[in-house]
Amino acid sequence: MAVERTLSIIKPDACEGNHTGAINAMFEKAGLRIVAQKRLHLTKAQAGKFYEVHSERGFYDELCEFMSRSPVVVQVLEGESAVAKNRDVMGATNPEEAAEGTIRKTFAKSIGENSVHGSDSAENAAIEIAYFFAGYEIVG
Ligand code: ADP
Ligand code: MG
Repeated sequence: MAVERTLSIIKPDACEGNHTGAINAMFEKAGLRIVAQKRLHLTKAQAGKFYEVHSERGFYDELCEFMSRSPVVVQVLEGESAVAKNRDVMGATNPEEAAEGTIRKTFAKSIGENSVHGSDSAENAAIEIAYFFAGYEIVG
């Protein structure tokens, strides 16, 4: 196993619900370390660029509206197999299908407003981290 970094976003629904501390406690309990973090209010254009891979999907406009509705917390998580571990702690995209004890099962309201984002591969993690953070802002 290798030490990896992955991009995590605590989405508007979870920030509005004041759950950022509870969510980050779940990451830390799972052995992930927050090595960069900031709170941002994304513009719709910034959200659209981040989720460009989904631009042909029917939910794209709704997703960009949601992600720019109110502040998010963007952060870099580091640890052994961090990409997969983060996805495990997050749970399935649809909270109705997420396992008990996962972030999405605990906090998410719907498949759209599902509380957290996590990179889906090491390659995408590197791209997504670079979208939000300069190298000097990541302090492991
Ligand atoms: P994940 O965030 O689990 O990697 P995807 O990459 O498939 O999931 O989708 C990106 C985001 O788009 C989801 O987290 C969710 O916010 C939104 N989304 C996905 N599918 C739907 C859907 N059917 N309806 C509305 N929003 C969706
Ligand atoms: Mg995804």
